[in-house]
Amino acid sequence: MDEKLKANLKLLAQLQFTDTERAAIEKKLAGVEESIAALGARLAAFEQQVAQEREQLDSVKKHYRASESEVQSIENSIVKSDDKLGAVKTNKEYQSMLKGIDDLKVKKGLIEDSMIEMLDQIADADRQAAILKADLADMRREIEYKQADIRKEAEEQRLELEDLNEERDSIWARLDPKLQKMYARAKHQGRGIAVAAVENAICLVCRVNIPPQAYIELLRINSLSMCPSCQRIMYPKAITEEDV
Ligand SMILES: [Zn+2]
Repeated sequence: MDEKLKANLKLLAQLQFTDTERAAIEKKLAGVEESIAALGARLAAFEQQVAQEREQLDSVKKHYRASESEVQSIENSIVKSDDKLGAVKTNKEYQSMLKGIDDLKVKKGLIEDSMIEMLDQIADADRQAAILKADLADMRREIEYKQADIRKEAEEQRLELEDLNEERDSIWARLDPKLQKMYARAKHQGRGIAVAAVENAICLVCRVNIPPQAYIELLRINSLSMCPSCQRIMYPKAITEEDV
C-alpha cells in the first residue's frame, strides 16, 4: 500500500466533500436576491390593486359631488321659475312654464336616484377598501418578515461558505500538485464531481459495477485509478471512515 497515495486520496475525498457543500451554498445564495425580489413584486402587485380600487372609489365620490351641485343648480332654477310664474301674462306662457318646471323636477329625481345608487357603491367600496388596507398591512408585514428571514439565512450561509473556502484552501495546499491538476480536470469533466467513493465494487457516483480485478487493485491503493464508466478518480470508501 502506498501510504502517500492513500493520504492524498483522503484529501481528494475531503476536497470533493467541501466543494460539493460549497456548490450547494453558492447555488442557494444565487437565488437569494431573486427570492427577495419575487416577494417584493408580489407586494407591489397588491399595492397596485389597492391603489386602483381607491382611484375608482375617488372617481365615484367625485361623480357624487358633481351630481350634488347639479341638483342644487336645478333647485335654484325651479325656485326662479316659481318666482316668475306670478308675473306671467298669458295662459299659454303659464302652461309652458309649468311644463318646464315639471321637466326640471323629473331631471332632478333621476339624478337623485342615481345618487342613491352611488351612495350604496361608495359604502360598499369604503368597506372593501378598509379590508384591503388591513390585508395589505398584513401582507407587507409578512413579506418584510420573510425577506429578513431570507437575508439572515443568507448571511449565515455566507459565513459557512467562508469557512468552507478556508478549509478547501488548506486541503488544496496539502494535495500533491499532480493530483491538483487531475482533480481540476476531473471536476470539470465530471460536472462538479471529480472523485467517486467505491463500496462493494460499486462506484457510488455512477452506480456502475467495478470489474473484480480493478476493484482488487483499488483496495490495494498502489496506484491511482479512474472509474471505468464515469472516469472519476476512485477511492475505497472505507479510507474516509478510518480515524483521521
Ligand atoms: Zn463511476
